[in-house]
Amino acid sequence: MQLDLEKVRIYAKKADNRALLDRVTVFRQGMEPAAIEIIKIELLERGIFPADISQHESAYKDLVIRGPEGLPRLCKKCALPAISREWGWLKVFGFIPLLPWQHLYCEEHKTRH
Ligand SMILES: [Zn+2]
Repeated sequence: MQLDLEKVRIYAKKADNRALLDRVTVFRQGMEPAAIEIIKIELLERGIFPADISQHESAYKDLVIRGPEGLPRLCKKCALPAISREWGWLKVFGFIPLLPWQHLYCEEHKTRH
């Protein structure tokens, strides 16, 4: 697949700091080195330095819940990496409880502390 670096640049300008930090750390696996460079430059322009990126990386390395392929799982409610497993219900049509189900949440959406 041809990587469209212009799209990466547009994404990097629009995304918030947290999303960009996640891209170059938690979600780095499978990213093109050129795309990572673009995001790192964007972060630098926002005053976020390589040391800050390393700190983010070590903070989330052991916290993030990974799938069978080692890829980080996502929060049920947003695009942040999941760090919390909680039992709830798998619902049919979004409201009929069917099965007890483990849901994954990020630190902003988790309810259990
Ligand atoms: Zn979330």
